[in-house]
Amino acid sequence: MTESASPWIGYQEGLAAGELRFQRCGDCARAVFYPRVVCPHCGSTALAWEISSGAGTVYATTVMRPHRQEPYNVCLVDLDEGFRLMSRVDRVPADGVRIGDRLRLLKEAGTAPVFVPADRS
Ligand SMILES: [Zn+2]
Repeated sequence: MTESASPWIGYQEGLAAGELRFQRCGDCARAVFYPRVVCPHCGSTALAWEISSGAGTVYATTVMRPHRQEPYNVCLVDLDEGFRLMSRVDRVPADGVRIGDRLRLLKEAGTAPVFVPADRS
């Protein structure tokens, strides 16, 4: 993978390729997300891209009920590599997501990472 001037470009390139990319610090070894130029843990600029397995666990969840629209869930997902992002879980009712549920990345998600329960095809 090529380094880009803006770390968001590398992230978006990953999503377009069906990959959930994150950064890992070459100095403190911690996972970094969202994409940055400087490690928020130790200040290093030695950040390198890695590709997440897409396996994660629901850390928090809530149901959004927009006026005259179908409700949907918004979740914080802890990826197995050690970073957290905001997303949603598809293929379940909006109120059917529970803290601790295991998830996998929906590969055809497109411009934003979306998850499904790990036990659903
Ligand atoms: Zn670091």
